[in-house]
Amino acid sequence: MSERFDAVIIGAGIIGAALGLELSRKGWKTLNLDKLPAAGYGSTSASCAIIRTHYSTFDGTAFAYEGYFYWKNWADYLEVEDERGLADFHDRGCLVMKTEANGYLEKLLEHQRAVGIPFEEWDGATIKAKLPHLDLNTYAPPKRPDDPGFGEPTGGSLRGGVFFPCAGYISDPQLATHNIQRAAEAAGGTFRFNAQVAEIRKDADGRIAGVTCKDGTQIDAPVVVNVAGPHSQKINEMAGATEDMNIKTHALKQEVTHVPMPVEGWDESGIVTSDSDIACYTRPEKGNFLLIGSEDPECDPREFVDPDDFDENFTEQWKIQAMRTAQRIPELGIPSQMKGVVSLYDASDDWIPIYDKSCVPGFYMACGSSGNQFKNAPPAGRMMAELIEKVEAGLDHDSEPLQWAMDYTGKSIDVGFYSRRRTINPESSFSVLG
Ligand SMILES: Cc1cc2nc3c(=O)[nH]c(=O)nc-3n(C[C@H](O)[C@H](O)[C@H](O)COP(=O)(O)OP(=O)(O)OC[C@H]3O[C@@H](n4cnc5c(N)ncnc54)[C@H](O)[C@@H]3O)c2cc1C
Repeated sequence: MSERFDAVIIGAGIIGAALGLELSRKGWKTLNLDKLPAAGYGSTSASCAIIRTHYSTFDGTAFAYEGYFYWKNWADYLEVEDERGLADFHDRGCLVMKTEANGYLEKLLEHQRAVGIPFEEWDGATIKAKLPHLDLNTYAPPKRPDDPGFGEPTGGSLRGGVFFPCAGYISDPQLATHNIQRAAEAAGGTFRFNAQVAEIRKDADGRIAGVTCKDGTQIDAPVVVNVAGPHSQKINEMAGATEDMNIKTHALKQEVTHVPMPVEGWDESGIVTSDSDIACYTRPEKGNFLLIGSEDPECDPREFVDPDDFDENFTEQWKIQAMRTAQRIPELGIPSQMKGVVSLYDASDDWIPIYDKSCVPGFYMACGSSGNQFKNAPPAGRMMAELIEKVEAGLDHDSEPLQWAMDYTGKSIDVGFYSRRRTINPESSFSVLG
């Protein structure tokens, strides 16, 4: 005899867990299935978990500011204790450099003003006074070490930057996901691990009927949601839900570099930096390390892979990111032993996620998170739960997109912005910055 749930959520990463929580709070009987042994063990555990509001689009900006408040009020959001403790939000702020590549942040600041997000403009002298370890020469455009002129200033210095106080990072993204799992369980949700979905079943009318796991277990449910991270394309294909998707998702290899912290005292107080002049972002990492991620410059090849079969070793990319950051922080030492993270983004064609229904009745997707949706997981869970409830009650979301009122910012989001059928959004940065 098969079990029956109101909704099966494929994936128990940070977004899948958040959806399980919100549907459970609405009274749905939910089951999160994950093929890994615990919540947040997939790409979520590799996340740099930076919380920031600088996005290239108005909607992306507003959504990220909404997300910030969930992290700020984490215990209120969860409404439960976790025996492992709650994840810490290091809300130290984020400095984004003004560069030619980001249009000196002019458009981006329009979005910040429109949403009402606080920020401070810092000129070069202010940056130097606050962060004396930074070399403010410009090095753009980003290059690879073999390119002529790598590491040499290209003339002039940075015009300054913008400091966003409503930003920071979560040092333990897996723990944050476990926190949400506990909250979802307290609301009646169920999680099952080491359970790989192998088939998505439909009834004679083509409506979702449930899933079958690799071990043969059958679970019936009229709603199935794809929150499978870098496996999202495979799950959409399994459901036969790709035919009307204008935006596709692809597993993209990413490396994150950890080097010994070059700045004294920054482990506790360090801010996040985002610097498109050298195409790197940084934040402090546990153990007195500096974490360095890539802002995906054009000169770097993009390695799209099969999420079930890819090389999980570091490549020269690890060192290139360290070398680029050493342009800005000359004291930065590059150890011979590589430490950091190799993982996958679930990149969409325009680096904006898909939060949507599908052409298969009862099948939904929250995917294409493109390396930038950890911060948005709590509101994404809430928005997806609302979308699913409304569509199941008869809303034709494709022709009349749901308008979702956000709790903290009071702004309303046109959920059609995240449609699978949208045309590629030309406002996107087409990078992890979204
Ligand atoms: C290196 C890196 C750095 C990042 N940095 C940031 C950042 O600084 N800020 C930010 O906001 N975002 C960041 N992100 C993005 C963020 O981490 C992701 O958007 C987010 O974690 C995605 O959560 P998820 O729940 O959708 O996916 P995942 O955490 O990938 O979870 C999907 C789950 O689905 C499961 N699954 C897949 N297929 C099946 C199946 N057939 N059956 C059962 N289970 C299945 C997997 O096991 C996995 O656990 C980063 C991502 C990476 C990789």
